[in-house]
Amino acid sequence: MKVLVVGNGGREHALAWKLLQSQQIERVFCTPGNGGTATLERCENLPVAVDDFEGIAKLAQKENISLVIVGPEVPLSQGITDYLQAQGLMVFGPNKMGAQIEASKAWAKALMQEAGIPTAKAAVFTEIKAAKSYLKSQGVPIVVKADGLAAGKGVIVAQTIVEAEAALDAIFGGQFGSAGNFVVIEEFLLGQEVSVLALTDGLTIRPLLPAQDHKRIGEGDTGENTGGMGAYAPAPVATPGMMARLQTEVLEPAIAALRKKGIDYRGVLYAGLMVAPDGEFKVLEFNCRFGDPETQVILPLLDTPLEELILACVQQRLGDMPPIAWKNGASATVVAASGGYPGDYTNGKVITGLQESETADTKVFHAGTKLQGLEVVSDGGRVLNVTAIGEDFKQALDRAYAGIAKVQFEGMYYRRDIGYRVLS
Ligand code: ATP
Repeated sequence: MKVLVVGNGGREHALAWKLLQSQQIERVFCTPGNGGTATLERCENLPVAVDDFEGIAKLAQKENISLVIVGPEVPLSQGITDYLQAQGLMVFGPNKMGAQIEASKAWAKALMQEAGIPTAKAAVFTEIKAAKSYLKSQGVPIVVKADGLAAGKGVIVAQTIVEAEAALDAIFGGQFGSAGNFVVIEEFLLGQEVSVLALTDGLTIRPLLPAQDHKRIGEGDTGENTGGMGAYAPAPVATPGMMARLQTEVLEPAIAALRKKGIDYRGVLYAGLMVAPDGEFKVLEFNCRFGDPETQVILPLLDTPLEELILACVQQRLGDMPPIAWKNGASATVVAASGGYPGDYTNGKVITGLQESETADTKVFHAGTKLQGLEVVSDGGRVLNVTAIGEDFKQALDRAYAGIAKVQFEGMYYRRDIGYRVLS
């Protein structure tokens, strides 16, 4: 079987790598892929942009692709699934209607409220005056969110009314374009975040192992928000008891609510949760795709062939599959970023030590890289994910850090405290 993976991040490298472990997978194509997918055996990058649906469809037909897996949220929210399905292709990833669960925070909040899913109290505004007077009635801390996709920058956790008002001014002032047509003002929740990615065929939904990301740039979870600086799985904060409740209180109601709206959702439903110190949890957000960097730590622990699960979702027979099988132990990834990220940074830095850093237990998933002649050079803010498995968190983290110590490029930055919660 030939598979096409749409996207160019660490998530897509991990997906391609995992798929290629199966004998059933003859070849993987990535559009456009990165320096890592370019060097995988039986994998080929093709220079087609993720929003060039026509180009992707033509390529899939020419190469006789059986299955398209869409990585990023932007093409999903633009309707890539609808387009490719109309061309007769089999696609893993929700249609445009379903992707609203990530692309509109107001839409997602309404769905959660309708379905009785535990989530932060919130109100939606289209007009600044009413938003400001609501702010004052609620007090601080409070969370102000631009409705649409803003690559993690559209959420402001405000500690003062002045800060919250400045956020409203920026969003309504057009800083986030049409993503700011609506604003969600939300109750601040205290606790630990955890990501649960679940696979669904629209009828049945099954969670993967819970993972914990580290979103801030600085050690001790300080500084600006990023796309994610490291992760580990299985995150112990999501206890078996919590996972059982999540299934009946969040995942199943969400799928039922989508179905009620006539949405046939086949893909990943990712629940971003806040777990309070007393163990109670609420949904912060839903995403409509695999998480990055969570995928990079979940897939190395997956024993069931990935394509079997994905095909079962696409063909709506997930309910007939045996339970998902996992390896014992733990997995961790540490992200190497370009100096200056999440602010300005320079691309094109030559990366060395990649082969030396890999072992039987340690794998480097590329994110912002590309091949330039025979060299791999940086090509983005988050550059690499050095990922390792081990018998426990300590071993997995030690291996990931031993791996990243061998990698070098000018300005490279990484957090030294990934996994501090599970080591303490
Ligand atoms: P964007 O829409 O800009 O792409 P996003 O989808 O990542 O961002 P969220 O996940 O809703 O946005 O929020 C980003 C981060 O803000 C969360 O990971 C969390 O750290 C913080 N956050 C969001 N909502 C709350 C809340 N109600 N209480 C406390 N922190 C929150």
